[in-house]
Amino acid sequence: AKQNGRNHFCLYTDILHQETQSNAILEEEMSYALQLEQFVVYYQPQICTKTKKVKGVEALIRWDHPTRGVLAPGVFLDMAEELNLISEIGQWVLQTACNQLKQWQLQYNLLDEELTISVNLSALQLQDVRLLSLVSHALESSQLSPCCLELEITESSIIHSPENIVERLHELTRKNVKLALDDFGTGYSSIKHLHLFPIHSLKVDKSFIAAYKQKKSQDKVLEAMINFAKYLGLCVIAEGVETAEQLDFCQSQGCDLIQGYYYSKPICAADFEAKYLAI
Ligand code: C2E
Ligand code: CA
Ligand code: CA
Ligand code: CA
Repeated sequence: AKQNGRNHFCLYTDILHQETQSNAILEEEMSYALQLEQFVVYYQPQICTKTKKVKGVEALIRWDHPTRGVLAPGVFLDMAEELNLISEIGQWVLQTACNQLKQWQLQYNLLDEELTISVNLSALQLQDVRLLSLVSHALESSQLSPCCLELEITESSIIHSPENIVERLHELTRKNVKLALDDFGTGYSSIKHLHLFPIHSLKVDKSFIAAYKQKKSQDKVLEAMINFAKYLGLCVIAEGVETAEQLDFCQSQGCDLIQGYYYSKPICAADFEAKYLAI
């Protein structure tokens, strides 16, 4: 038994060692990924509950790794943050997303009101004094109207927000850029933030949607969150909707937009175009 235990230990340290090594390789590779154009933006539709048409689209980064395949952000974003690459990558996503929507507008004769692009902002981007000028730059060089851009911020990234972040967010909305509060309900003081920040939309976190199966007790929480957002006059987006039951419930409670696998996973630009625009 002793020997067995020892073998387990050896195996464990071996795995740890391999993991550290492969992380080091991944870090090294990531420092070149932007230059080598290995990052890709995927797009997930947000469908209007009333018209059933696509009204918004969230830009979600992927790393098309040469040997590991398409990697989701969960695998590499923390690493990008540690390596101080997150701002540069974030700006690349913003620019790519703005360019993409502009191209779709031109190609499919879309009006500004018809389709909005949502881009996630990391905490570091929010703290950056250049935020306003970086956003302006992305809009100007793409020629996209500010009203077509929605920036998604999380509660955790604004929790320790000094006044200048609040001011920066107000400046963005004065420019006509929209703000969405992402992962709503997962932070510790949701209500406080809602009146501090000029928020346009509220994204009910997918954990609340996932909790909605048939259990009546959970329904109340989700129902209360949706009603609260509606009461504040915000656009309510249900995220992570996978089943018809979840869709029906969110719809019956007055959600404005639905985002989730029920309609589509995040897909590449060409697939998004084929599925939602070229019709
Ligand atoms: P998020 O902003 O909350 O994005 C939604 C995540 O939920 C996406 O994961 C999406 O693929 C996933 N999702 C959508 N519908 C469903 C569903 O029906 N079921 C389930 N189980 N999942 C669903 P993804 O693309 O892996 O992104 C994970 C997180 O990485 C994002 O969470 C966001 O926080 C971050 N992220 C992604 N792209 C960027 C980016 O360009 N910049 C920054 N700063 N963060 C990003
Ligand atoms: Ca998001
Ligand atoms: Ca979210
Ligand atoms: Ca999240």
